[in-house]
Amino acid sequence: MSVNSLVPDELRAAVAQIVNSSRFVAANPHLTKGEVASIQRDLDWPALKPVFSPFAQTHDGYSQVRFKGVKYLCHRLTFAEYNDGTPIGVGEDISHTCYVGPQLTARNINPIQLCAEPNDINQARKACFLYLERELDRFRAGGDIWPGGQGPRDASVEDMAARIRGTQILCRELHREQECSFCYEVWLQDRFERAGLRPPSARFESDEEASQRLE
Ligand SMILES: [Zn+2]
Repeated sequence: MSVNSLVPDELRAAVAQIVNSSRFVAANPHLTKGEVASIQRDLDWPALKPVFSPFAQTHDGYSQVRFKGVKYLCHRLTFAEYNDGTPIGVGEDISHTCYVGPQLTARNINPIQLCAEPNDINQARKACFLYLERELDRFRAGGDIWPGGQGPRDASVEDMAARIRGTQILCRELHREQECSFCYEVWLQDRFERAGLRPPSARFESDEEASQRLE
């Protein structure tokens, strides 16, 4: 069923289930206590950081919540809630615009980093994300090995971000409604986890827990 069938009060209640779930804090170690409180209290989202669903992913990489007996995709719920229930167009995807690595990007439910657009424009984001992955990895590899997984100084990250923005020429054309972005701090965490430098994360719900919750 489409989130378009829910009224704003229902959307708020459904999104509250996600952000108040017991694993929400563990799923979002990059958020400050204040940012978590703003999300949980007011559904007030940070503009520049992804916010992850704590729930297990489906085969598509998305997570689901059950509300009044019906299953909905979490990112479509947060998008609809943030836009006061303005209907999502027929055939429109809700696209993820902030790249934080192949494991985490689709887990993002921050509506500020989502947009509604046709499927082909959404698909073209894969090319932007491959480009970002390569550039971010090159930046990391070119730098020092940062002890303890610490990132480089802010100034060099800002320089790198400005340089990448300047070279995303295709993105500026294809995704001008909302250009592809990235969050370096969170991408770096994902990169360390992928490299096996940290144990695989147990911060998200397991498939077994998900099937019980959605039953
Ligand atoms: Zn793009």
